[in-house]
Amino acid sequence: MDHKKERLRSLYKVDEVLQDECLVFFKNRLPHSLIADCVREEIELLRAAILHDENCPDALTDKQLFLDQVIRRIRAKSMPSLRPVINATGTVLHTNLGRALLGKDAMEHAARCACSYSTLEYDLKAGRRGSRHDHVERLICKVTGAEAAMAVNNNAAATMLVLSAMAAGGEVIVSRGELVEIGGSFRIPDIMSLSGAVLREVGTTNKTHLYDYVNAIRQKAPQAQVCFAGYSAAKTPSSCEAPGGQGFPYTAALMKVHTSNYRIHGFTEDVGLSDLRKLGDQYHLPVIYDMGNGLLTDLKDCKIFEPTVPDAVKAGADIVLFSGDKLLGGPQAGIIIGKKTYIDRMKRHSLARVVRIDKMTLAALETLFFDYQDMEKARERVPALQMLTCSKESLYAKAVRLQTCLTQSGLSDRFHVTIRSCQDFVGGGSAPDTLLEGYAVTLDSDTISTEALERRLRENDIPIIVHVCQDQIWLHMRTVQEDEIELLADGILQSS
Ligand SMILES: *Cc1c(COP(=O)(O)O)cnc(C)c1O
Repeated sequence: MDHKKERLRSLYKVDEVLQDECLVFFKNRLPHSLIADCVREEIELLRAAILHDENCPDALTDKQLFLDQVIRRIRAKSMPSLRPVINATGTVLHTNLGRALLGKDAMEHAARCACSYSTLEYDLKAGRRGSRHDHVERLICKVTGAEAAMAVNNNAAATMLVLSAMAAGGEVIVSRGELVEIGGSFRIPDIMSLSGAVLREVGTTNKTHLYDYVNAIRQKAPQAQVCFAGYSAAKTPSSCEAPGGQGFPYTAALMKVHTSNYRIHGFTEDVGLSDLRKLGDQYHLPVIYDMGNGLLTDLKDCKIFEPTVPDAVKAGADIVLFSGDKLLGGPQAGIIIGKKTYIDRMKRHSLARVVRIDKMTLAALETLFFDYQDMEKARERVPALQMLTCSKESLYAKAVRLQTCLTQSGLSDRFHVTIRSCQDFVGGGSAPDTLLEGYAVTLDSDTISTEALERRLRENDIPIIVHVCQDQIWLHMRTVQEDEIELLADGILQSS
């Protein structure tokens, strides 16, 4: 008992420890309270050890050991929560891992505009207030072929703004097969009701015909309604009936939503954008297209069959909206393009302020759209496109580099390190059917379970997120950046 009292008396004092040379580095950089807490917590651990153990804890007699423990605790506590990770899952637009990566130039432009004052809302020529929309509008229009453009916080915000500005109080006709939910809290019907527009679902889950839209249209002047040209009476049951009775909202817009995160297979039918355009012209209704993806350049050669933004503009949508960080490959944003009268109305709407885009995002978007002026170069400069379009040979070469790093450092004594072909995904709810042919380095060992290794990789200083399959670790090379291969190898060595 007495030796325990003796030990408790010789416990370190918080104030003394805080004076130690070893902590100067941290004291200069980190909050004092964080360091003091760490010292206190380590002393408490030591106190508990003294009370419960018969043997004297080493850290009581070895001050350097104690300080090392304090420093480890300080490091752990000052580690940011939002941290870079190595994505070895092969899913390019991994929503949980931050969707699209920003290119270096875009990132630098954003950083420069964040650290210094900028022309965010300043017109240099006129020497007075300008508009934040001006920095990207001309470029977006040039690249997409649209008349006008603006950018907001994300595509969910864009949908809300578009519907509020164009359809509040009126009905918006959408095919039942296109009422998408993206990642839980974004649902077309919910956003619609939030915006004040009334959803008018037409058609069925698998088939929607042009006459379904025609039948749902309610016009302000009933006598102006005419049968839709080109549709036989047989195919348009009661399509010329008078519109809904008094008190019903009129149709404000026709909307098409790209089913970006699912596909309906089998006997299906939907109405294309150009047919909706014709219908819109006939009934003087705007056509809105929520594309989600924002693919600017055709990727059919890489077996990614997604509609492109320029095609949607050509097909005649009045308004097209899409995400900044899906197949566009930029920062989180919502891009709205289309007819100038509508875009101007949105810029003036009070929600525009609510969903206003930040200057760093705007800077990144400016660089991104600048790069898109040359589609071939964009495939090299936009990381998401680069990862989606790279050759199988280049993925194999990356796998060989990783395998070599691992074998040279002796890992192959304990692990089977193999290169295999694998399937990668676009991700971000985009192109759900598309499987990309890639290469992975697989690891398995007799000494450590796959489960334990997966967890240790995740707990690495730079966490490594992998794909577990067939009781093996699969490191998909598509999403591992060239400058990450050595870090990845180091992380694996430390975890194994
Ligand atoms: C992804 C997506 C959205 C939501 O976009 P965010 O940028 O995530 O807000 C909306 N509509 C469609 C069709 C989408 O694919």
